[in-house]
Amino acid sequence: PFELKGKSVYVAGHRGMVGSAIVRRLAREDVRLLTADRGIVDLCSQAAVFDWFAKARPQVVFLAAAKVGGIVANNTLRAEFIYDNIAIASNVIQAAHLNGTEKLMFLGSSCIYPKLAPQPLREDSVLTGPLEPTNEPYAIAKIAGIKMAEAYRSQYGSDFISVMPTNLYGPGDNYHPEFSHVVAALIRRFHEAKVSGAKTMVVWGTGTPRREFLYVDDMADACVHLMKTYSSAELVNIGTGKDVTIAEFARVVADIVGYSGEISFDTSRPDGTPRKLLDVSRLTNLGWSAPTRLQDGLKRAYAAYLSQSTGDS
Ligand code: GDP
Repeated sequence: PFELKGKSVYVAGHRGMVGSAIVRRLAREDVRLLTADRGIVDLCSQAAVFDWFAKARPQVVFLAAAKVGGIVANNTLRAEFIYDNIAIASNVIQAAHLNGTEKLMFLGSSCIYPKLAPQPLREDSVLTGPLEPTNEPYAIAKIAGIKMAEAYRSQYGSDFISVMPTNLYGPGDNYHPEFSHVVAALIRRFHEAKVSGAKTMVVWGTGTPRREFLYVDDMADACVHLMKTYSSAELVNIGTGKDVTIAEFARVVADIVGYSGEISFDTSRPDGTPRKLLDVSRLTNLGWSAPTRLQDGLKRAYAAYLSQSTGDS
């Protein structure tokens, strides 16, 4: 196993939902945490990243920084999604290599798998077919990151690993009305519908796509577990292994928020990929499974939304 104890650990993207969950989880480890705000290190700037790494020389890196968003953000900000995410992966991985980082974890995404790959999605289905068009730029950038980690391992012997989290939700999510992911979007809209006493609430698409949702603190726990125990070029999926339809999911969110009106579907909005369920057998065999049930995670996420939106978080 890889010893984290006493190491300097850099979390790239510590202000985001994913990075901040990793920071919370690392508080329970005996490590020296390193972070750098965007004003100090712009991760899209090679010079800024190289300078910072040369000074800080982190022994361990969690690469959790990314430009992210829901189906509309991915589909409209296509140039920004591919440029920013390739730049971040390329700059941080090369900087880690140049500055003696002992171990690096690259965080990918379940959208790297082909649109019509067999479900549940196995790690070895990457690059076996065409991607879902709405998030292809993001997926290509994430595949580039995975392939970099793999190439540095094979050419330089670097201990760089890649993990693929499923759809994540929890504290620190982005509640933008148009650009958010479905969990944050529905928490916000159901809450606002409840408060305003609206009779119907609109959910995008047909309600038939299936999605898997993982509470972000569970993901962070899996990442720390894998950082300590895993070393291989093979990807590892991080999920729950269970999925629900968007219609079922909307019902669960409505119940948790306490919205009792109708739910309707706006089919002029995109469905995206029909199903995105991860095969988590590799992760299970590595000794980890998700502890938080969807209902419990959503209750915590709703509480976090309420405190974020009233500004007392
Ligand atoms: P995806 O998993 O990459 O498709 O990203 P999203 O989280 O944005 O969307 C997941 C699914 O939820 C898609 O089928 C969307 O059409 C559906 N969905 C339903 N209502 C909403 C909403 O208000 N916002 C978003 N982003 N998606 C929604």
